Amino acid sequence: MLCGMFYDLAIIGGGPAGVAAGVYAARKKLKTVFITKDFGGQSNVSTGIENWIGTVRLDGVELAKNLEAHLRVYAADTVDIRAGEWVARVEKVGSGFRVTTDAGAYDSRSILVATGSSRRKLPAKGADRLEHRGITYCASCDGPLFSGMDVAVVGGGNAAFETALQLLAYCKSVTLLNRTDTFRADEITVAAAKAKPNFRVLTNVTPSEVVGESFVTGIKYKDATGNETLLPVAGIFVEIGLIPNSGWVGSSLDMNEIKQIKVDPRTQRTSHPRVWAAGDITDGVYHQNNIAAGDAVKALEDIYMFVHKGVSTAH
Ligand SMILES: Cc1cc2nc3c(=O)[nH]c(=O)nc-3n(C[C@H](O)[C@H](O)[C@H](O)COP(=O)(O)OP(=O)(O)OC[C@H]3O[C@@H](n4cnc5c(N)ncnc54)[C@H](O)[C@@H]3O)c2cc1C
Repeated sequence: MLCGMFYDLAIIGGGPAGVAAGVYAARKKLKTVFITKDFGGQSNVSTGIENWIGTVRLDGVELAKNLEAHLRVYAADTVDIRAGEWVARVEKVGSGFRVTTDAGAYDSRSILVATGSSRRKLPAKGADRLEHRGITYCASCDGPLFSGMDVAVVGGGNAAFETALQLLAYCKSVTLLNRTDTFRADEITVAAAKAKPNFRVLTNVTPSEVVGESFVTGIKYKDATGNETLLPVAGIFVEIGLIPNSGWVGSSLDMNEIKQIKVDPRTQRTSHPRVWAAGDITDGVYHQNNIAAGDAVKALEDIYMFVHKGVSTAH
């Protein structure tokens, strides 16, 4: 179903980037369609966010509720919110674009892509078969199911160590497997995990196979010499990075080698003059909630100039 309206802007994504853009679009009276599968984005699953500026601490579910409430208060008849819809593709139509979702199609003059990232899957034999059967990507969602058990965490960044710290509070043991001998996590977080007696680190190892019939019973890993060892565990928490949600974009925008959308960091404009991108979907070097929101505000200022004056501030 095509709704018939020609919007100034289509915002795709309901994380901090998309919502910040939505609030600014409402205040600037840009006729906008706001499409997102859900609100809050990736940190929805976080149990404690302590760096969302202006709020001392909140969990991911509260962040999601606050973002949605903020947008709905100001959306009025300017921002048309289409929550629960999944964008399948965008095509050029006349002087604008047609955004097709699983529930409809929307025509718009400009686009802001804010579809963020998803978790990278564990590339080991048996991992697909045992996903959600002992392999999980969310300690705060699934961790308590493994209370009193031996578990493994795969990864070496902040997400891996924060996951380990959560699990160490109630699991019998936590073994962290990292493919190098250096960690990308903050030193303070690494030290906090290492101080726990039930924590162990294996460095220079690569998970090769997830073992188990109907549920995980262990993980096999190879060391630098190629020797394979079986570590018996009931749960495997995978924290090996993120993949940008850019598959639906096709080849119409310039991207880097890991499929993040290239933007001009002054304006957030992409290689297409009527498409902007903000947040984790971009090739920005740093990705955080505050950065995503700030990038989106920058984009909105530029989109406003484009819609009203036909120019980008940077040109
Ligand atoms: C476990 C965890 C904890 C974190 N903790 C912190 C923290 O404490 N502090 C911090 O600053 N950062 C934290 N981060 C990073 C932070 O969550 C991200 O930088 C931020 O969420 C990026 O926001 P975004 O709006 O760009 O994208 P996302 O948050 O990824 O949001 C993307 C949105 O787009 C929607 N979407 C995607 N594809 C489509 C589609 N095709 N159609 C429709 N909708 C779509 C999704 O439903 C989602 O709403 C954490 C990340 C994780 C994974």
